Amino acid sequence: MVEKIVIIGSGPAGWTAAIYAARANLQPLVFAGRPKQVPALVLPGGQLMLTTEVENYPGFPEGVTGPKMMAFFEQQAVRFGTRIQTDDGQNPDVSNPDDGHAYKYHDCTRIDLSSRPFKVYGEGDQVVEAHAIIIATGATANWLGLPNEQRLARSGGGVSACAVCDGALPIFRNRELAVVGGGDSAVEEATYLTKFASKVYMIHRRDQLRASKIMAKRALDNPKIEVLWNQVVVDVLGDQKISAIRLKDTRTNAESELPVAGLFMAIGHTPATAFLGGQLELDAKGYIKLKDTYRTTTSVDGVFAAGDVVDSVYRQAVTAAGMGCKAALDAERWLAEHGIE
Ligand code: NAP
Repeated sequence: MVEKIVIIGSGPAGWTAAIYAARANLQPLVFAGRPKQVPALVLPGGQLMLTTEVENYPGFPEGVTGPKMMAFFEQQAVRFGTRIQTDDGQNPDVSNPDDGHAYKYHDCTRIDLSSRPFKVYGEGDQVVEAHAIIIATGATANWLGLPNEQRLARSGGGVSACAVCDGALPIFRNRELAVVGGGDSAVEEATYLTKFASKVYMIHRRDQLRASKIMAKRALDNPKIEVLWNQVVVDVLGDQKISAIRLKDTRTNAESELPVAGLFMAIGHTPATAFLGGQLELDAKGYIKLKDTYRTTTSVDGVFAAGDVVDSVYRQAVTAAGMGCKAALDAERWLAEHGIE
């Protein structure tokens, strides 16, 4: 059997594409991704699974948590006939997102676009053939790449790329913590950490925040946040747990030590496009290039892309969902034009 549409990714873009494709009677198959630590936590549902309150998604006047919102998206997609690639080939009961069923979900390991139908490879020896593919694999957090940073991140030694996931842990309570970065994410993470920490340092490599004005003001006005300007982290100190970070002043090259009980990275994201093996045109940062700004078509006919995997600018749940809708409509039209109903 050749699938009409395979959707790879399960964030707002992937599930919205699934809702539209399923309602168009195309029975989409979704590779939702297995939960894993690589070294940051990656979950089906994407970045919103690592977010607490979402207050800017229309239709939720009181706000909604990221995981709850993604559970709603998934349930809505399944309700209309979306299928999810799982260990036992059965769609799980998605009505209870806390029962661990997402651990049965499959990663897409690679795709082969060299002939039609396309091939989508899952875990083990799974191969699915597909006429059309929608890629909605999003983007994951960046790290500084320091050896001790990675060692302590993997061992739970107080280094993390997600304050929302880890900030409430007892090791960070009433302690001094550091967040690296000067963008909106850094402000958001630092602000979140002030709920638990006695003080949060924002370590920024320049003398001006990249964050939007309103977010920057939030950080600068918060008495628990201190921005350390023109500083880069050159080492992370500590054996089992982080004890301090070594900083270098970008203007004078002078080094100093800052004792902290936790270090959180907020230095941007990398799109999940490595599994494409160079078969789609990407931009310099690795995001999928769209053929036409207003469409979701890519460099390969029949392959569509949506969400953070193509968008380094807006990166919002609502924009990703909108692109997921466009991808499903583009794929549906493409299938019809090729006589695949
Ligand atoms: P970002 O805007 O790209 O900011 C990344 C920050 O990390 C920058 O300040 C950058 O420094 C710094 N950085 C990058 N690599 C570094 C390195 N190797 N060492 C030290 N510092 C490094 O990323 P983001 O904050 O994740 O935001 C991404 C997008 O999502 C933005 O469009 C943002 O507006 C949006 N967003 C919005 C919200 C919200 O509105 N609630 C929340 C989060 C994110 P430089 O400034 O020197 O480049």
